[in-house]
Amino acid sequence: MDEKLVAQRVSEVRGRIAQAALQAGRSPEEVRLVAVSKEVPPEAIRAAYKAGLRYFGESRLQEAQGKAQALRDLPIRWHMVGHLQSNKAKHAVGLFELIHSVDSLKLLQLLQRHAQRQGKVQEVLLQVKLVPEPTKHGLSVEELKRLLQEAQGMEHIRVRGLMCIPPYSPEPEDSRPFYQRLRALRDGLQAEGFELPELSMGMSGDYEVAVQEGATMVRVGTAIFGERPR
Ligand SMILES: *Cc1c(COP(=O)(O)O)cnc(C)c1O
Repeated sequence: MDEKLVAQRVSEVRGRIAQAALQAGRSPEEVRLVAVSKEVPPEAIRAAYKAGLRYFGESRLQEAQGKAQALRDLPIRWHMVGHLQSNKAKHAVGLFELIHSVDSLKLLQLLQRHAQRQGKVQEVLLQVKLVPEPTKHGLSVEELKRLLQEAQGMEHIRVRGLMCIPPYSPEPEDSRPFYQRLRALRDGLQAEGFELPELSMGMSGDYEVAVQEGATMVRVGTAIFGERPR
């Protein structure tokens, strides 16, 4: 892995985030860059760490555990961005600072139970499905409200905000309406009294649009590490 190339890409992504933030009248510091390192070897993650990144997103628990072990000398903050199976809740609580992808009450309850046992407060985001595709993970707006209410009674869970993945498109502007909807949904819930400061939205193809629309976390893989092997 070419350290210089990774450093160059990190700096380019940071510059574009800053520019998009300023265009929207926001401060660039309001946006956290989460480097999505799924399928990326530990040496490349180390290079990105050297380039200043601290938050790394993984989509499979076992893969993340292996990398966390290999990189245990670095104070990396691991985030779970992919779908989390219920039977992985226990180990996920042990590893991830933030789980972006909570999409069922059952998972939330298991995270609460394991966080309690481990003496932790698990921070989570709730993943929202903005188009009703049966094959896609995520909560409907009705389910989202139910989970938010349930979470208020869970002492070991802290819901920090919302996350979404829009339908894939090569055209970044196609994502804008989805990001506007997620933000509007969040604003409406905040008006109802739920505290939801974080909006996790935006990937390599559209993170600038997401920042313009209010993202506080962008999840960027390819633009930092290059194309994943397929
Ligand atoms: C893979 C992945 C990303 C990063 O995708 P890129 O297009 O490589 O930036 C972001 N979010 C989730 C949930 C992912 O699975």
